[in-house]
Amino acid sequence: MIDVLVIGAGISGLLCASELQRAGVSVRVLDKGRGVGGRMATRRMGGGRFDHGAQFFTVREPSFQSHVDEWLQAGVIQEWFRHAPSDSNTAGYPRYCGRSGMTDVAKHLCDSLEVHRSQTAVDVVRTANAWEVRTSTGEVHRCRYLVVTAPVPQALALLDTSAVDYAGVELAALRAVRYDLGLATLATLDGPSGLANHGACPIEESSITWIADNQQKGISSDVPAVTIHASADFAQEHWDSADDVRGALMLEAASAYLQSSVLEYSCHRWGFTLPLNPYPQAYFHNSDLSLLLAGDGFGGPRVEGAALSGLAASRVLLDTLSCG
Ligand SMILES: Cc1cc2nc3c(=O)[nH]c(=O)nc-3n(C[C@H](O)[C@H](O)[C@H](O)COP(=O)(O)OP(=O)(O)OC[C@H]3O[C@@H](n4cnc5c(N)ncnc54)[C@H](O)[C@@H]3O)c2cc1C
Repeated sequence: MIDVLVIGAGISGLLCASELQRAGVSVRVLDKGRGVGGRMATRRMGGGRFDHGAQFFTVREPSFQSHVDEWLQAGVIQEWFRHAPSDSNTAGYPRYCGRSGMTDVAKHLCDSLEVHRSQTAVDVVRTANAWEVRTSTGEVHRCRYLVVTAPVPQALALLDTSAVDYAGVELAALRAVRYDLGLATLATLDGPSGLANHGACPIEESSITWIADNQQKGISSDVPAVTIHASADFAQEHWDSADDVRGALMLEAASAYLQSSVLEYSCHRWGFTLPLNPYPQAYFHNSDLSLLLAGDGFGGPRVEGAALSGLAASRVLLDTLSCG
């Protein structure tokens, strides 16, 4: 039996696991994906390389900054561009990305962790002093403490299999956490995109909200490759449309901004982008059941919120374990 099992190899789960491991706690991470990083995702198509989930991250809190500084020093991430300076920050906030894609941070954190990929946790059982987690491949993982970092509706669906009252009066607040749907269209081009501002192009009042040039970003050096994000309304409306309908509409909206023609494209659906109404605390903890929930549904939308939630969950566990 291990001390802690973390479900989810996104930024929250991996930072939580890293901090625990650094403190000498035995910890294992499970993820249903073939890769790691969750919504910090990178993929290849037509020789191009695309970040199709989170595009960059920012840093406000010193506790996250120290990790970011370490990743910068290790050459894992780089500054992509800066937001316009403001009165409170005359230099502008840096926007960071992985050197070869947003998954780089997760891969770096996984180097020193025991991570089991392609393992979907399908049900959980609470025994007298442990959790047993069964996965889609039939493995059973036993742990003293369970940390679930999947998007909140998925986390609750998993915990519901336990038939244990895991949240008491907080269940309604947890069930209320909702996320926007998302849709990304990835396209290779026959020449430079022509996008200004290092290839980062936010768009207002349109079916699309964002175009990024992954070549200018530095992750698709050989092939011009753009990522286009739809608005939440468009994603909802076209959730079940064929790619040649929704992709074509998004490319048509993007064409006003692009100088080159599309060679190849594909669409990716995101069931969870950003939490609309995060839980009011940085994590959920049931100390009687040795259960923690963390992720951006707790720490707040964006990579930094998820990271801070994972770090906060690790501190709770370290306090608990040092008392136990
Ligand atoms: C399209 C899009 C654009 C975004 N843009 C930005 C941006 O530019 N900047 C920014 O800061 N943020 C952005 N975000 C949000 C950011 O990606 C998230 O806030 C952050 O990555 C969430 O991290 P997390 O660890 O909480 O969750 P996740 O990254 O979702 O990690 C949860 C993990 O749990 C795994 N999992 C779920 N259920 C199970 C199960 N039953 N068994 C095993 N594993 C399971 C999943 O596979 C996943 O890897 C964007 C998100 C999307 C989708």
